[in-house]
Amino acid sequence: MAKKDINSMYFDELAKDIEELKLPKFRTKQIFSRLHGKLCFDFHEMTELPEALREKLSEEYEIKFARLENRQISKLDGTEKFLFAMEDDSLVESVLMKYKHGNSVCISSQVGCRMGCKFCASTLDGLTRNLTASEMLSQIYAIQKLTGERVSNIVVMGTGEPMDNYDNLIRFIKLISDENGLNISKRNITVSTCGIVPGIRAFAEEKLPVTLALSLHSVTDEKRRTLMPIANKYSIAELMDAVDYYFKVTGRRITFEYSLVRDVNDTDEDAQGLIRLAGRVKAHVNLIPINPIKEREYRETAGPRVLAFKNKLEKSGINVTIRREMGRDIDGACGQLRKRTMDENKQRRGQGD
Ligand code: SAH
Repeated sequence: MAKKDINSMYFDELAKDIEELKLPKFRTKQIFSRLHGKLCFDFHEMTELPEALREKLSEEYEIKFARLENRQISKLDGTEKFLFAMEDDSLVESVLMKYKHGNSVCISSQVGCRMGCKFCASTLDGLTRNLTASEMLSQIYAIQKLTGERVSNIVVMGTGEPMDNYDNLIRFIKLISDENGLNISKRNITVSTCGIVPGIRAFAEEKLPVTLALSLHSVTDEKRRTLMPIANKYSIAELMDAVDYYFKVTGRRITFEYSLVRDVNDTDEDAQGLIRLAGRVKAHVNLIPINPIKEREYRETAGPRVLAFKNKLEKSGINVTIRREMGRDIDGACGQLRKRTMDENKQRRGQGD
C-alpha cells in the first residue's frame, strides 16, 4: 500500500490517525510541529520519539521534500531562484525575494500549466500534474532551511494556475498558517489567478484573509483573448463581478496585475479602461513591464512610457505600483529557469549521453 503523504494532512487528520494507532494524544502535536515547524524531513531524526514509533511512522507515512537542483543568486538585488526536483523528478521553480519588511517566497502550484497565456514561459510545455499541498509547502520549507532565514510572506505566483488546483491550494494555505507549523499570517499570503470565475467565487466563500491578485493584462475582452485563452471562457464583466464579490465577502482589496506589452496594451485608451475597472472594484494596480521570452514576439513597454502610464492612473486616484523587477539577471521571467533546464535535459538526452 502506498504510504500516506503526512505533510498534506491537517492537524485534526493526523490526530485521528494517532488515535487509531492507539498512541497518546500529545504525539500529534509533537509530530506535527516537528514536521511543519522544525522542518524535519526524516522520521529517524525525531529522536524524541521512541524508536518503535519512528519505525512505525516511516512504514506508514512519507515526508515529501523538495530536492535542490539549482540555485541562482541575483547580483543586482539578492533575489534567489531555486529549482527543485520532486520525488518523480518533476522540476519546480521558486523564488526568494528579500524586502525590508521580510523575506517573500514565490511558489509554484503546478508542474507546468495549461492556461496558455501567450507571454508566459511556464505554459509552453503544458501541464504535467498538480502539486500536492505538501509539495507546495516543501518549496518554502526547503528555502527556509537552505537560507536559515524566516520566510514571512508568500505569493502563489510561480508556475501553475492555483485555481486549477483548488483543493490542494486551500490545504496549503491552511497548513502554512497553522499555529503548530510555520504560522505564516494569511494576511501575508497572495494568490494570483488568471481569472477562473468559479474558483474566485469559491475562494471568497472560504473567507480566508488572503490577498487575491487577478492577472488582468487587458481591459477589453477582445484584446484579452489574444493574450490569454482563459478570456474565451470568462468575460471581464463576469470577472469584475467575481472580484467585487471577493472584496465584499473578505474585506480584502484586490490587486490587478497588468503586464505592459509594447504597443499591445499600453495605449492611452488602455490606461483609461484600467482606471475605470480598478476604480469600480477599488483594486490596487501592479504594473509589470513584460519580461520577454525568446519563444514569443512580445516586447516590454519602454521605461518612460511605463512611468507615464502609471502617472495617468495615479492622477485618477488609482492606487498603483510598478513591480520592481527582481532578479532579471537570473532567468527572471516566470518559469524561465525551469524551461531552460528542461530544454537542456531534453537536448542532452537527444544527444544520447
Ligand atoms: N496562473 C497565475 C499565477 C502564475 S503567473 C496567474 O495567471 O496569475 C504570475 C503572474 O506573472 C501573472 O500575472 C502572469 O500573467 C505574469 N507573467 C507570466 N509571464 C510573464 C512575463 N513573461 N512577463 C511578465 N509577467 C508575466
